[in-house]
Amino acid sequence: MKKLRKGDKVKVISGNDRGREGEVLRVYPKAHRILVKGIGMITRHQRPTQRQREGGIIEREGTIPLSNVLVICPECDKPTRIGFQIAETGEKLRLCKQCQRTFS
Ligand SMILES: [Zn+2]
Repeated sequence: MKKLRKGDKVKVISGNDRGREGEVLRVYPKAHRILVKGIGMITRHQRPTQRQREGGIIEREGTIPLSNVLVICPECDKPTRIGFQIAETGEKLRLCKQCQRTFS
């Protein structure tokens, strides 16, 4: 099980977007990178094509290193490091190191 999942809220702790928060759009486990909504925006210059004569600048999210973010705990709403805990049901849960509460 991964520490980070799509849909998680994260806080950026280093890099250009330090201090900002966003939702995880995609996780790239092998590359140890993630895509976060509104974070790490990169601009691409689009050349004019026959369909789109104007061309222009397209802005979209670029991946950032996993280590640049902390998960915001859904229980206490604080950015936190994550541990794991096995529930009585055998389910593996994520553990917030701030409030010690678990979430899936
Ligand atoms: Zn918490």
